[in-house]
Amino acid sequence: MKPIRYAIVPKQPAAHLFEVTVTVAEPDPAGQRFMLPVWIPGSYMVREFARNIVTLRAFNDAGRKVRIEKTDKHAWQAAPVKGALTLRYEVYAWDMSVRAAHLDDTTGFFNGTSVFLSPLGFEGAPCVVDIQKPAGPQFRNWRVATALTEARATKRYGFGEYTAQNYDELIDHPVTLGEFELATFKAHGVPHDIVIAGRVIGLDMERLSADLKRVCEAQIALFEPRTKKAPMDRYVFMTQAVTDGYGGLEHRASTALICNRSDLPVTGRDETTDGYRTYLGLCSHEYFHTWNVKRIKPAVFAPYDLTQENYTSLLWLFEGFTSYYDDLMLVRSGLIKEADYYTLLGKTIGGVLRGSGRLKQTVAESSFDAWVKYYRQDENAANAIVSYYTKGSLVALAFDLTIRAQTQNRKSLDDVMRLLWQRYGRDFYKGKGEGIEEADVEALFAEATGADLSELFADGVRGTRDLPLDTLLAPFGVTVEPDVDPKGKPSLGARVRGGADCTLAAVHDGSAAQKAGLSAGDVLIAVDGLRVTGSNLDALLSRYQPGAKVEVHAFRRDELRVAQVRLDGPEVSRYKLAANDKRAAAVTARKRWLGGK
Ligand SMILES: [Zn+2]
Repeated sequence: MKPIRYAIVPKQPAAHLFEVTVTVAEPDPAGQRFMLPVWIPGSYMVREFARNIVTLRAFNDAGRKVRIEKTDKHAWQAAPVKGALTLRYEVYAWDMSVRAAHLDDTTGFFNGTSVFLSPLGFEGAPCVVDIQKPAGPQFRNWRVATALTEARATKRYGFGEYTAQNYDELIDHPVTLGEFELATFKAHGVPHDIVIAGRVIGLDMERLSADLKRVCEAQIALFEPRTKKAPMDRYVFMTQAVTDGYGGLEHRASTALICNRSDLPVTGRDETTDGYRTYLGLCSHEYFHTWNVKRIKPAVFAPYDLTQENYTSLLWLFEGFTSYYDDLMLVRSGLIKEADYYTLLGKTIGGVLRGSGRLKQTVAESSFDAWVKYYRQDENAANAIVSYYTKGSLVALAFDLTIRAQTQNRKSLDDVMRLLWQRYGRDFYKGKGEGIEEADVEALFAEATGADLSELFADGVRGTRDLPLDTLLAPFGVTVEPDVDPKGKPSLGARVRGGADCTLAAVHDGSAAQKAGLSAGDVLIAVDGLRVTGSNLDALLSRYQPGAKVEVHAFRRDELRVAQVRLDGPEVSRYKLAANDKRAAAVTARKRWLGGK
């Protein structure tokens, strides 16, 4: 099959417009059809990327216009032509996230799902993309960062032609354009680039390289303990640094990240701030996906259907387990201390136990409904849904601890991941590319470990019973208890949005606020006649005892209401984990778990 040829140019950075062309050498004689994905793999929501296509025209190889019509929200049909067919279109790119595309005169970024139309029937054809430099002297120093393969004439980081074996590969390699910081390190022999776009003062690229190398090597060794073979030939961490942002999206040989510039390490300062720990955890998370979801996949993702929702009940395994391993790999590679790991775990436990949605939705159901629930949360989310990320990571923890306890530490969750890898992941892009069927998951866990995990599957995955983490942690000499001062300050049982006004963002089921008739969206005006703002509510409430009655004035829309609130006790937002048991068995068990032995 002749290659599908694309060209993309940042045509009008000030107007945030890319111009893209796609040429099909031998179009369908009945009239070529095209589509743009409605979602991007890894982010389970229909986003209708085609809404950002501003103008679109079709031409034959004599440069004459060809009639083209839209057939639905994301598809087009061109009239039959003799010879090649070219489409030229503009894409509006002003979404500063990792999921779409953005462009201005400082940086450009795009995912193929936002910019490359797919000619139907040519999904398996090789692709060539000419990435062109924007015109003008101010773009003289712009470079290209991507894990796409350079064509022979293209220098690494240069503008020019890049290739992909098929459409699926083309859209799995995001591209960053602009002037960016760049460093390269090798992890078990494979080159890894770190690309940071956005202005960051005093950025310590050396430390970033050294730290990420440790995480990457630990993960490669987890999946391939004998050969230490990475699943890709090279890898690119691309980060957009902003004032206030957080997110990442995994790809087969790269990841697109967004973070606060204040989270990135500063030259000469060696401390590991909370922000930097968060950033390392994000990198670790997306890197783990290189194995778990980019190669080990649910059967319905092999291949993806890019025209609609792809339903799977397994995101607890693909996102939850990845969330478990992201911080675990930081402690195993020595980047954070054991005590820091317990702190992170205590926060996750607190977050999961705070929402009553965990008693109404299982992690399997949360996975299935991700498209309309987890990804489209409203003010009632905490009361109605559970996160397959956070609860999923605790399910992973519960599996790991159970397997270790039942097998006297001979087996662990690592063995499950390795068997998944050997059976489904290692040859995914070489072989037929099959994913795991949902019905086969439980048997595979048993096969990998020999442990009886049926109760955990029933209660933790398909049920809503709280995980018995205190019992499971006991053989490891780790205690877990609510981190709260029983004499602490009372609460309303609601989440407040900060700002000048004291607006309730969410009201928890059964809380003082709910019982008194307060609702999300209400703007609190006064507590017992004293004015409330977005920042002083805690201070006001701290003068009362739990159980005290207070009068709250609030606006709902433009109507003033008065509520009599009987204050709740202090909120438990985190749990305290401690490893004080110094007996040899507990110490060894902990070492194996957190040391990865
Ligand atoms: Zn993830």
